Amino acid sequence: MSSQSNSADDHLTEVPERHRETADAVIPEHTSLYIGGEFIDSDSGETFTTTDPTTNQKLASVARGTEADVNRAVEAAWDAFDTEWSGYDSGDRQRVLLEIADTIDAHTEELAQLETLDNGKPITEATIDIRSSAEQFRYFAGIVRENSGETMTDDTRYGQVITEPYGVVGQIIPWNFPLMMASWKLAPALAAGNCTVLKPAEQTPLSALRLAELIDDIVPDGVVNVVTGFGDEAGEPLTRHPDVRKVAFTGSTAVGKQVMKNAAENVTDITLELGGKSPIVIFPDVDVAKATQLISAAIFYNTGECCEAGSRLFVHEDVADGLLGALVDGIDAMTIGDPLLEETDLGPKVSTEQVDRTLEYLDAAREAGGEFLVGGDRPDDAALSDGCYVEPTLIEGLDHDHVAVQEEIFGPVLEVFRWDDYETMMELANDVDYGLAGGVITDDITQANRAARDIQAGYIWINSYHDLAPGLPFGGHKQSGIGRELSADTLDHYQQTKTINLSLR
Ligand code: ADP
Repeated sequence: MSSQSNSADDHLTEVPERHRETADAVIPEHTSLYIGGEFIDSDSGETFTTTDPTTNQKLASVARGTEADVNRAVEAAWDAFDTEWSGYDSGDRQRVLLEIADTIDAHTEELAQLETLDNGKPITEATIDIRSSAEQFRYFAGIVRENSGETMTDDTRYGQVITEPYGVVGQIIPWNFPLMMASWKLAPALAAGNCTVLKPAEQTPLSALRLAELIDDIVPDGVVNVVTGFGDEAGEPLTRHPDVRKVAFTGSTAVGKQVMKNAAENVTDITLELGGKSPIVIFPDVDVAKATQLISAAIFYNTGECCEAGSRLFVHEDVADGLLGALVDGIDAMTIGDPLLEETDLGPKVSTEQVDRTLEYLDAAREAGGEFLVGGDRPDDAALSDGCYVEPTLIEGLDHDHVAVQEEIFGPVLEVFRWDDYETMMELANDVDYGLAGGVITDDITQANRAARDIQAGYIWINSYHDLAPGLPFGGHKQSGIGRELSADTLDHYQQTKTINLSLR
């Protein structure tokens, strides 16, 4: 294979040892459910195993929550809301959020290691996740006191529009950015004054459990509850629960549709942050070296396991050969290996299921005559054979309606299309069911703005990618979702307005 692993000996002997030692140091003491401020076993007493995708060794046994546990958690959350949390004013909540942020910061290294063990992401990227998790709490702590409502008066009435929290919300978290996605949801929910039942992904439950331990002394009992378990056993009952007033979900579009249907049973409000198949459009004026770096980060960051990943490349004919050559060279120079090492650029995928899923798309692309410019399989390297690795892959020559182009692969796979006519290119760029994000690379500001407006998606980067700043709303068009995260709009998703109309007659 073209990429290089950390040395073979290291992988065969030192990697499992390093992972075992790190796990011994950072696996949370409690891997049970966190309900009403207590760590408790699941109602059934059953557990499931979470695995380290680098070594395929067991990390921990985690409580396997089911409907009975969701019911207990929702009850505990309402109890906390009614007896304590609804009495916290915005200043009180601000202090709690800031304390959570400081606590996350103080445990950055440990949380990053935990995330790398559970998910397989490179430690440098896990560290960025943890820092931006803390920033979420700070951002919402900053805006919570501006949440002031409105008035409308005339000669006959005095109208007030106030906001109220929902009370208890359900939050379902994916496995690609476990703590960061939990923070994207917890921070606005708490800022708006809600209690929550959070269900982490079954592949990566450990950082949410560690966060529960860390905030146990900061947040009143029952305000944050964590129910670990599987989607159909613990996630679904949360979406159907009649006393859950709002569900926030991040995950696949297929499951998002199911969540929407289930929430409809009780007319429960929802926000959905779903899949993507985002285009990156390259104009002929680009600096090839800079564009190569951006494209590479757009698709290979987090091993391609990003909903906003730039996974379809539309490169202008004039620069295509040079740019694709540079991309292949860049991939050849990547270090694939132990994600606990700082030098590693690409770690394993999260699970063997996800590897199989990616390889199925690659097989389909091969059968359809796709030309693999690089990659296309598991790395041919004995040192990486225990882990869930897939080679960084570039494919050219697929029809745009091929399944590997239309569907989200969620792996390190980039499909390439050359263009010379802008209108035809943009038609293809928009010819997917998704609309989460897009990228435009050019120094021509007029072209950049035109393309940014023409791409049908909720978030467009010009000359950058993955740069998500609190304050700039993130969310999808089309089948990529409903609602916005990361911004003041998000608070609106966690509260409802009440109009009070006082007669002046
Ligand atoms: P992926 O396909 O990438 O694994 P999913 O959309 O299946 O992502 O999972 C995202 C989150 O949704 C996980 O926490 C998972 O347990 C949860 N989940 C899966 N199925 C359901 C469901 N039917 N109802 C509610 N949550 C679910």
